[in-house]
Amino acid sequence: MDHFQYRDGVMHAEDLPLPVIAEQVGTPCYVYSRATLERHARVFREGLEKAGDIHLAFAVKANPNLAVLRILANQGYGADVVSGGELERALAAGMKAEDIVFSGVGKSRSELLLGLDRGIGQFNLESEEEGIMLAEIAAARGQKAPATLRVNPDVDAGTHAKISTGKKENKFGVAIDIAPDIYQRLSELDGLDLRGVAVHIGSQLQQLEPLEKCYERMGQLVEQLRGAGHEITHVDLGGGLGVPYTPDENPPSPADYGDMVARVTKGWNVTLMFEPGRVIAGNSGVMMTQVIRIKPGVNSDFVIVDAAMNDLMRPAIYDAWHHFEAVRPTGETMTASIVGPICESSDIFAKEREVDRVVTDDLGIFRTAGAYGATMANTYNSRPLVPEVLVDGDRYAVVAERIEPATIMAAEHVPDWLKQGG
Ligand SMILES: *Cc1c(COP(=O)(O)O)cnc(C)c1O
Repeated sequence: MDHFQYRDGVMHAEDLPLPVIAEQVGTPCYVYSRATLERHARVFREGLEKAGDIHLAFAVKANPNLAVLRILANQGYGADVVSGGELERALAAGMKAEDIVFSGVGKSRSELLLGLDRGIGQFNLESEEEGIMLAEIAAARGQKAPATLRVNPDVDAGTHAKISTGKKENKFGVAIDIAPDIYQRLSELDGLDLRGVAVHIGSQLQQLEPLEKCYERMGQLVEQLRGAGHEITHVDLGGGLGVPYTPDENPPSPADYGDMVARVTKGWNVTLMFEPGRVIAGNSGVMMTQVIRIKPGVNSDFVIVDAAMNDLMRPAIYDAWHHFEAVRPTGETMTASIVGPICESSDIFAKEREVDRVVTDDLGIFRTAGAYGATMANTYNSRPLVPEVLVDGDRYAVVAERIEPATIMAAEHVPDWLKQGG
């Protein structure tokens, strides 16, 4: 459930009519709902609480906006970060260092150092080499780095190939069959406090079965590691729960997920850690756009909007579906392709789709844009970087400004030796 609903024929975010934001902030822009974010954070927690001692770390890469992170920090969430930049963001947003988990397949020496410096709660190691490097750096500073070993369980998450991470050919984690040997060797290093294992098999999961299979394998691994004398206190079960982008998608609810987790992890006697991203942020945001003009096409008309693939990349890179709705629908529909102004054929949001009828200057929204939306935006075609707005009741704030091409050009330099005509 979200708080983007029609009232008197006009799409609102909570109690605020979206045209107010379009007029005052301009389009395209992202609009987030505080109440929706808080609701999703609460529902996820309530779903998982029955599984025992839990730690929730929001996957910052899904939506790294400082205001969004602050809302989640206030809900008691920590952060799952995958870069030094995300680590600094989580701290800047008020998350506690000990609640931060550092994931990612390519943590650099300086990023490991940063994590130690800031005193983060856990490093999820993705290879033996990374564990050795972290142990060396930590030992030289007289520290013991709290860590888990990320395991690749060889489970097909049944999701889009570009967001699947838990098959043996994927780059993430260490293969589950060699994990015990690697765990043993890492556990002997002075600079590490190895305390468990971690897993994350992919994103936008529509079924619980792959997760259940994965967690069962993790349970066997925990038993095996304990049998070898290791003290296992933490198991990180990752993120990945899907959200409905289309009317016929029906992903498992956090409550159903929590029931499965409680059943499979019964008797593990560990702190269970979770890294939800999309399920918290996805339906908490929309991207608003304005129609530039309608252009007749061969199969159907083109609705050319002022948002483009640089603002919302998911359709271009994952063939993702984002539901389109007019902000002031007339009740009529049309079959059209909704496209952006960028000079790429992949700059298309909807292909020959039946949508609300719109005309030049009308406003529309793409739903479910709160996760992997603004964070992937870029300035291709020298377009501005898209702004973000947070709504709370009938008030709003611009929580990320539109960055104009002039600001970006100011950071570019033409060397003198080019100016001299040589
Ligand atoms: C991306 C990612 C997540 C979050 O995935 P969602 O599908 O957004 O829940 C969690 N953990 C890790 C390690 C990730 O890379």
